[in-house]
Amino acid sequence: MKTVLITGASSGIGKETAYVYAKNNYNLILSARRKEKLEEIKKEIEEKYKVNVAVFALDLSKLESVEQLYGKIKEANLTVDILINNAGFGINGFFKDIDMKQEESMLILNIISLTKLTKLFVKDMLETQSGHIINIASTAAFQGIPKFASYAASKSYVLNFSEAIAQELKTDNIKVSVINPGATKSEFAESAGFKGNTFNKAPSSKELAEFIYNSMKKGKLSAIHGFKNKIMAFSTRLTPRNLLVKIAGKMMK
Ligand code: NAP
Repeated sequence: MKTVLITGASSGIGKETAYVYAKNNYNLILSARRKEKLEEIKKEIEEKYKVNVAVFALDLSKLESVEQLYGKIKEANLTVDILINNAGFGINGFFKDIDMKQEESMLILNIISLTKLTKLFVKDMLETQSGHIINIASTAAFQGIPKFASYAASKSYVLNFSEAIAQELKTDNIKVSVINPGATKSEFAESAGFKGNTFNKAPSSKELAEFIYNSMKKGKLSAIHGFKNKIMAFSTRLTPRNLLVKIAGKMMK
């Protein structure tokens, strides 16, 4: 039975992805900061799907946490076959107004921790010449977005980084997929400080979780969720970059 490690598994897309993988007979390692939430999910999944669930509560916006998480997984004698780097958050607002400490935490979580976790588990996967890394980027990755500047740029990093290492690791039988959700119902909008109704008609985290699982099964490199989002992402290749940023800025108003 294979084991999947999911970061950011206490809510939204990560939580629903845990249920989808459990339903498909995977053992789980779940991580996030909120221990009680993880324990609740573990209890429910173990009862319902009869798979093993290990939980590790850590703050991955702290530089030392990735090594701690890796150490705990090794100590528990667990092997990670699939790594889903899902933990992440955004900050909506003008760059000049955003508190640097908060921004730094976001960049560590969205970029540094994702990269470090990938590095550690890729090394293990190289030994067995098998494994799958799934990184969660965003449709925000395809252009600069005013009032979402460093979040969108962090997701551009995730997209470009994933596509590049996917090429590097091809001959080692390690797969890399990058998933790009558009607006999705979860705790994301509230924690990013979005007001208004952009997320009212958004798809559910459950729908995204199924999309992640199916994209992995199909061996997709880069997958964009939703027909409109696919068209939008494609149109970014044909539109001048300064115009793209203007349009994105208007959409953020
Ligand atoms: P969410 O409901 O807010 O979930 C975020 C998860 O990340 C939670 O489990 C949270 O758990 C965890 N997390 C946040 N800060 C953390 C930290 N410092 N250390 C460890 N874990 C942390 O949002 P979501 O929509 O499911 O987001 C999942 C991923 O999808 C993110 O990477 C996000 O950027 C991406 N995404 C979301 C949307 C959207 O519209 N929802 C669109 C595109 C991409 P704790 O609070 O318990 O730590």
